This record gives sequence, C-alpha cells and structure tokens, in this order.
Amino acid sequence: MPENMLARYAQVVGENVIDQLRQLARPLAGAKVVHVNSTKEGGGVAEILHTLLPLKQELGLDTSWEVITGDEKFYQCTKSFHNALQGDRIDVADSLLASYEQTNRENAERLRSKLEDADFVFIHDPQPAPLLSLCPNRKGKWVWRCHIDVSHPYRPVWKYLRRFVEPYNASVWSLEEFVQPLPHPQYLIAPSIDPLSEKNMDLDEREVHALYAQYGLNPGLPIILQVSRFDRFKDPVGVIRAYRLIKEFIPLQLVLAGGAAADDPEGEQVLLQVKAAANHDPDIHILLLPADAHRTINALQRLADIVVQKSVKEGFGLTVTEGMWKAKPVIGGNTGGIRLQVVNHHTGFLVSTPEGAALRIRYLLKHQRKLEEMGRKARQFVLENFLLTRHLREYLTLMAAIMHKQKERIELQVDQNGVAKLDENRS
Ligand code: UDP
Repeated sequence: MPENMLARYAQVVGENVIDQLRQLARPLAGAKVVHVNSTKEGGGVAEILHTLLPLKQELGLDTSWEVITGDEKFYQCTKSFHNALQGDRIDVADSLLASYEQTNRENAERLRSKLEDADFVFIHDPQPAPLLSLCPNRKGKWVWRCHIDVSHPYRPVWKYLRRFVEPYNASVWSLEEFVQPLPHPQYLIAPSIDPLSEKNMDLDEREVHALYAQYGLNPGLPIILQVSRFDRFKDPVGVIRAYRLIKEFIPLQLVLAGGAAADDPEGEQVLLQVKAAANHDPDIHILLLPADAHRTINALQRLADIVVQKSVKEGFGLTVTEGMWKAKPVIGGNTGGIRLQVVNHHTGFLVSTPEGAALRIRYLLKHQRKLEEMGRKARQFVLENFLLTRHLREYLTLMAAIMHKQKERIELQVDQNGVAKLDENRS
C-alpha cells in the first residue's frame, strides 16, 4: 500500500477533507486500536476493514485487525444468529450456543493480552461479541459495531446476544431503524467504499471489454448484474425471475457473480437453488469468483448496464455503493441500508418484488438517457456520502466522543503550530 494514500485521496475528495482528518487524528496519535471480526475475505465487513485500516495507520493510529476462527458448528451457530437477527424465527440449539461460547473462550486465550492492552477495540457483529466479558482487565474502550439489519430481530436470539453486548462502552449501527435499546451511547455510521481500491479504481476500457471473451458474454446484449454472496437474503432467485419477465419483451443477459465467504456455511445450498432456477439458460451467467477477484468485479460493474441488488434484508449493501460509483443506476430491494443509497427515481429504483424489478429494468433499458442521467446522479451521491474519508471522519469523531463521554460538546483546539487537541474544558 503506498504511503502517500492521503495525498491520493485528496485528489478525489479535496484537500480540506484530508486536512480535517489529520486534525481529528492528531489527538489520537499512537492510540492502539484493534478491530476484530470473523473473516478476512468475503462480505462487506472484510471489505471495509481492508480499506479502512491502512488509512487509520497512515493517520498515526496504531491500528490492527484480528480474525477469530472456529469450527463448523461455530459458523453454523453464527449464521443462525445472522438469519435470526434479520428476522427468521430460528431457535438456536444449546449445543451450537455452547460451541459459540467455547470458540470465543479459545480465541480470547489467543488475543487477550493484545485486546486488554488496546485503547480502543472494535468488535464487528455477533461472532466475537463475547470477547469483552472474557477480557476482564481491559483498559480501553470497547465498541460493538453491528453491520446487520436488526430492525425486526427474532427476540429470543437477540435476548441471548444482548447480554454480551450490553457492557460495551458504545455501539455503532448503519441505520436508525436497526438500533436496539442498550444501556450505552449508540451511534449511526454508514459504511463506505474506497474509491482507489482495486474494486473501485478507474479501469481501462480494454480491460473492461476483455470480460466479454473471458466469460463468454454477448457484446450485443445489455447486461444486468448482481454481485453477491449466494445468500437467501440477497434473493438471487428473485433476480432470475425478474430477468425472465423482461426477457419476454427485451433481449438481455444476466450475470450473477459471487463467491463464498469463509464464515457463511449456507452458500453452497443457495448456489444449487440458483443453478436450478437458471436451468441452463445460455444468457444467465453464474460466475463463481475467488475471494480476491476485486478487479474482475470492478470491471463487471463497469460493463453492466444496470446493477441490481434485490435483497430482502440488507445491513447496508456495499455492492450498491460500488455499482453507483461506476455510474450505474441500481435496482435495489426496498430494505435496510439500500434505502440510504437508492434515492427512488433519482439514483435508481427501490423494488419489493421480481415484477417490480422487471418493470424498472425494462423502463431503463428503453430510456437510455434516463439510465445515464440516473447513473451520473448515483456516482455523485456516493462521492458526497459514501466514500471512505467520510467514514473515517465519523470513526475518529466517535473515538473522541467516547474518550470524553461526559461532555455534551467537544471542541477541537488548534494551537499556533496547527496542532489540534481536544478541549475538555469547554462543554
Ligand atoms: N464481494 C466480492 N466477491 C463476491 C461477492 C461479493 O468481493 O463474490 C464483495 C462485494 O463487492 C462487496 C462485498 O463483498 O464489496 C459485499 O458487501 P455487501 O455489503 O454488499 O454484502 P455482505 O456480503 O456484507 O452481506
């Protein structure tokens, strides 16, 4: 990773934004910050941590990332949590809960000294949530970062998990409607994408067009794309239904690109359902990509005419942001974090059914100018709201707020050398 990343970001977002980040980071210089999640590859959390960490480091925070590991039972349990928090009525067996707690105890053995020594610990999602109670001599502030759509959790599962989350110093959520009552300060921070990463950087047109030959795509047909793990909540089968409804009127091709996440044991089963639904249609391309296929996904998003993310539940949906950044209108499920991004009729369309998706896609394919105009607005919307620099600013502000939690207002003072420090006396 090049050292002058901040200078490169300044070219995208402007010098002021970067100056502000430097100011916010100065009082936190040298702070030991540890992030913990359950997978290094696959899924939005890993994507965010890969991009956020190097920037925090460049800003002077001593930041690191730990991944907890477990056996099949553990992932089965945490996938059940995930499904239950997103609303499925699942009673998780006691033997799985025992594995969950045991796995956390084992990981705590390995990580305890580092976590107890850290100034800030960010625990992502339910998988590592019990680590806090397993680090009794912790000296820093602990934040639970929930990336999941918990707007209507299955209560018994939330009740079980809540006991692990309650003692945290704060929690962070992507959307107001996800926030659950907890006895600590709660913050809203939306995720972001990195405009300079392989997933989102500009690409040469030749590289993008090379995908036609590489994946046997038809250069003469419009491309509808959904990039997702094979997960029921992403509704890939619904996307195929929408495609078939459109195909009766307009020739087109559908690309479903996805891979497995290390912590998602249900992917294979969903993939089988997707293959059955596709039924060997030569214009449905199911691409199984390796975890590091960021550049390929970038190129696919650029090659597509319309990006779809027809989820029925979605914490945020980085694939929506990524598609919008490539100036594509997004047809998104009317749920969770997709609603933050798809401004209906402006940056795309919100839909609730395959029929709705088909209607909107047909409309856009027939109105090329509208499609392009929406795409331009989509990119601008991401530029203003969902880039890494905004995300980082909010994280730094959150850290300052937690350090000074008794204050209603925290001011940054800048001395004659331009050095910022938090002024605790003004509240
Ligand atoms: N992704 C990927 N390969 C895949 C499928 C997804 O790299 O095969 C990436 C995708 O580009 C996005 C992230 O994984 O950056 C998925 O994040 P999102 O918030 O959309 O969904 P999640 O998987 O976290 O539910």
